[in-house]
Amino acid sequence: MIKLRFAPSPTGYLHVGNARLALINWLSAAKEGGEMILRLDDTDAERSTEEYALAIQEDLKWLGLDWSDLKKQSDRSAAYTAAFETLKAAGRLYPCYETGEELDYKRKRQLARKLPPIYDRAALELTEDEVAAFEAEGRKPHWRFKLDQLVIRWEDMVRGPVEVDGASMSDPVLIRSDGRPLYHMPSVVDDIDFGITHVIRGEDHVSNTALHIQIFEALGANVPIFGHIPLLTGPDGGPLSKREGSQSLREMRENGIEAMALNSLLARLGSSDNVEIRHSLKEIVTGFDITHFSRAAAKFDPAELTNLNAKLLHETDWAEVKDRLSLEGAGEAFWLAVRGNLTKLADARDWWHVVTGPMTPVIEDADFLKSAAAELPDGEITNETWKAWTTAVKEKTGAKGKALFMPLRLALTGQPHGPEMNNLLPLIGRENILARLNTTAD
Ligand code: GLU
Repeated sequence: MIKLRFAPSPTGYLHVGNARLALINWLSAAKEGGEMILRLDDTDAERSTEEYALAIQEDLKWLGLDWSDLKKQSDRSAAYTAAFETLKAAGRLYPCYETGEELDYKRKRQLARKLPPIYDRAALELTEDEVAAFEAEGRKPHWRFKLDQLVIRWEDMVRGPVEVDGASMSDPVLIRSDGRPLYHMPSVVDDIDFGITHVIRGEDHVSNTALHIQIFEALGANVPIFGHIPLLTGPDGGPLSKREGSQSLREMRENGIEAMALNSLLARLGSSDNVEIRHSLKEIVTGFDITHFSRAAAKFDPAELTNLNAKLLHETDWAEVKDRLSLEGAGEAFWLAVRGNLTKLADARDWWHVVTGPMTPVIEDADFLKSAAAELPDGEITNETWKAWTTAVKEKTGAKGKALFMPLRLALTGQPHGPEMNNLLPLIGRENILARLNTTAD
């Protein structure tokens, strides 16, 4: 059975890019009947908070993405210490004593000489006396992983065959001088211990993957299958701006974006499959294929999302929204009457006020409305009433077209545009209709 993980750091709220990766992981698992775990990469104790950890879970639930297990890296230090000892014993970790400034200086000199800024492995040459002198100064070592300087290859689910030359990379620091592990080792150790079979993450991790493959091997573990998803850009191809995709999921939610509009878009954006509105994740799983994702960056256009959101609402069934609408007395007939006019669900509330009042009728010609009121057919107001009524008003007053319909719409809804009047009329009801028509303009 395949097992994937979504591994955000709880150092902020999830954004559209995170949502996309979470969704792609989830869909990949669901498609194969596998599972996805949620791994909170909270090794950065200063920046990680419980509030963000909870917010991430809340946002994923909103999207409908569940996880089979929740793991926190902050609970796993014993496993990381064990891996540290294993790698050290295998001669793959070496202590380094350079300060940040010394490393900066080395890099600048290399760049000035047009050399790639790769760590020179000077620490491997330290004599015992030099090490003792650093220790006596109170310096604590950081630990680097000694890369095998050979070509690292893998078959990427998105990028196809990838090759990275180990000699082109610095030996990565796995443990900081304060003893805390940086991202690489915990990530690999967790992927091993939790039995992760497929690692799907952003393209910004391609070079990390080359390092990780060697760490997996050094720890004697199977290397998972990798897939690197290109990042999202703004509609113009530039980085996502604050107003665009760097909006948090909670901001989007507050702004009325439906989870399934976002899921429908993100499951296809950047792939060769068309974006189509789907009302459930189950429907998305069927056509999902990670190999259809392109190697090029995908453009995220908030206007496209807003559009999809409206379209989704326009075809949403009453059963899907009835628990979320919370408008006392509103039923299916109301929903069907107004859904075609919504860009977000909360707009339904405005139409509910139009239906039930209080609202302010717009009265331009009070006499015309009084004549119209007199023609309102007797009996139950149904979806047929509007037609019968306006036909009668037309015969009586001679008004037709816009001159007939607009004054009635303005008086009954207070607005020049909106849902079809034949559907609204029964909802507004006889009493309100007559009251609105007979209101005299000031
Ligand atoms: N916490 C890392 C990130 O958010 C996880 C990357 C990974 O999937 O390994 O970039």
